[in-house]
Amino acid sequence: MKRRKEEIPLWQSKGYLPAERVNLPPGERMLEGPVAVIECPQRIPCDPCEESCPVGAIHMEDINGVPTVDTEKCTGCSICVENCPGLAIFTLDCSMEGGCEVTLPYEFKLPEIGEEVSALNRKGEEVTKARVKKIKTKENSSGDTSTVTIEIPEEYVKEVRNIRRMK
Ligand code: SF4
Ligand code: SF4
Repeated sequence: MKRRKEEIPLWQSKGYLPAERVNLPPGERMLEGPVAVIECPQRIPCDPCEESCPVGAIHMEDINGVPTVDTEKCTGCSICVENCPGLAIFTLDCSMEGGCEVTLPYEFKLPEIGEEVSALNRKGEEVTKARVKKIKTKENSSGDTSTVTIEIPEEYVKEVRNIRRMK
């Protein structure tokens, strides 16, 4: 029987996890330096994240499994971010004073380092403004995706997962 629309979880019908369903790495771990957060709740046949992690920090029960990160093993290298075809992995780093860095996959025209951008939530709504700190182009990445690292106020670290250029 076809499932009624109202029974479909938001993350399935919209294609993203609501913030309240995201399991952030432990706060103490984010204060130590970059660490991966995976927002991929669907059981789909896909495993480049697990395959690409150089320290074996990503675990899946099987090819259809939901990936999890061992945050103690994770070095925050962002290789899994570059290799995830679903653009579902981010690294978060709250080790600096007063803010956090979010490294996200980005497939549009790249901004420049130092550029001010709109920092967006999972619905594409602006949450705050952010400054671009680092860029890794697709050509220099280990996978098929460029990454952009932005700095945001710490209070938005659970919300911000995309950017929009303002020029
Ligand atoms: S950030 Fe690096 S070490 Fe951490 S899970 Fe991803 S690939 Fe592995
Ligand atoms: S590579 Fe990305 S889309 Fe594929 S299972 Fe891992 S997190 Fe999910």
